[in-house]
Amino acid sequence: SCTSPEHVLDLIRSRGIQIVDLRFTDLPGTWQHASLPASQLSLADFERGIGFDGSSIRGFQAIEESDMLLVPDPTTAFIDPFAAVPTLVMICNVVDPETRQPYARDPRYVAQKAERYLRDLGIADTSFWGPEIEFFIFDHVSYEVLPYRMGFAIDSREGYWNSGRNDGTPNLGYTIRPKEGYFPAPPHDTFQDIRSEAALLLEQIGVPVEMHHHEVATAGQGEIDMRRDTLTAMADKVMIYKYVIKNVARKHGCTATFMPKPLFGDNGNGMHTHQSLWRDGTNLFYAACHYAELSELALSYIAGLLTHVDALLALTSPTTNSYKRLVPHYEAPVNVAFSKRNRSACIRIPMYTTGPENAAAKRVEFRPPDPSCNPYLAFAAMLMAGLDGIQRRLDASRFGPLDVNTYQLPPEQAAQVKSVPGSLGAALEALERDHDWLLEGNVFTRDLLETWVSYKREKELREVEVRPHPYEFYLYFDI
Ligand code: GLN
Ligand code: MG
Ligand code: MG
Ligand code: MG
Repeated sequence: SCTSPEHVLDLIRSRGIQIVDLRFTDLPGTWQHASLPASQLSLADFERGIGFDGSSIRGFQAIEESDMLLVPDPTTAFIDPFAAVPTLVMICNVVDPETRQPYARDPRYVAQKAERYLRDLGIADTSFWGPEIEFFIFDHVSYEVLPYRMGFAIDSREGYWNSGRNDGTPNLGYTIRPKEGYFPAPPHDTFQDIRSEAALLLEQIGVPVEMHHHEVATAGQGEIDMRRDTLTAMADKVMIYKYVIKNVARKHGCTATFMPKPLFGDNGNGMHTHQSLWRDGTNLFYAACHYAELSELALSYIAGLLTHVDALLALTSPTTNSYKRLVPHYEAPVNVAFSKRNRSACIRIPMYTTGPENAAAKRVEFRPPDPSCNPYLAFAAMLMAGLDGIQRRLDASRFGPLDVNTYQLPPEQAAQVKSVPGSLGAALEALERDHDWLLEGNVFTRDLLETWVSYKREKELREVEVRPHPYEFYLYFDI
């Protein structure tokens, strides 16, 4: 990885780079890019930035103030493994040319402000993030995707029993049943090489990988786990991860999706997010001899996440489809509680390793997020919720520990445990009521939150609501 603009220019010369590709993330969370000949890139561009039209970017500027600048971050430079022409990618910050200030709706700037706010508070100097991103790889002409895209399938189970691949191999019967994909070896798993290739490409471009495996859903659900990193750096890696998975799948004639719940009746795609706070190289979440070896600080952090969970989900689980994942029986969380080792609660405390010699691994796993989020905004929002819990010393005992299967609580107990919001609409309403904790330190601005809510409501929620749903045909067509 590069450390300075000079270093980037050296790399361009020594590796024969011909194109520089500038990347940034729009408000909903999709990578955008524009390229220039590498010979045009100068040291001054790293100061001054490179102009682009911000008006057609979702959630960005109005047409009358659309000139914006991209300022590349040299530390993010990597050689694009998919481009035929030697291409260097750099992730950029967005800057307003008139004020020369960072653009307040640039998601990456929000993540950077959250990290600064953490340091300014003096509670910790570093936060570590480990998202477990799940995805499906579909044969791009299979029954699984197309009927859904076209709105014909009523029950996606009808499409399950294909070979899962369009590589010309016949279906030999090694088909994975719904919820049984975790994790029989080949020939059941036909995606081993795609995941391996993606994992090795990630490592090659500076994203260390810990493990990859097939996931629980039927053929094609996978997960590649990245080694933890600090907040903005990990949000950058989430964007790189999606780029690599999508492009490796495409190379194999398949298509990858991070949609939270593409298949009815099977597991969805989560992005469980492991997090911990550190000061002077010490993990502040670890305390020996406590429940799950969690410190008081960690418990307050948990209380912050769970107190603000309804509003928080408007940023971590921010699509209409997210709420089709957050239902019982698919390992996605439903109840607002914490627990060790329990995958039915919103927060799990992993217990793979214990004892002071493993203090560095102590962390909180927040399970509601899914990969339809904008990772810069989602990580920043989780940190802000946790920090609010610490500052107000919120009490975690309201939320557990609940070391039982919370999908099957006895009715008296079920009545005591709150559920996550049931729809994007409910989460957006919660965010409108409960957001002062996001505005602390000017990390999120009111303008960004208002833009987020109106974008999600007008462009997604309402557009889904006004369309006839496939299941309405099942219910009503012959009424
Ligand atoms: N796919 C599940 C979810 O939606 C998680 C499965 C797992 O990693 N245990 O959260
Ligand atoms: Mg995992
Ligand atoms: Mg998983
Ligand atoms: Mg997990």
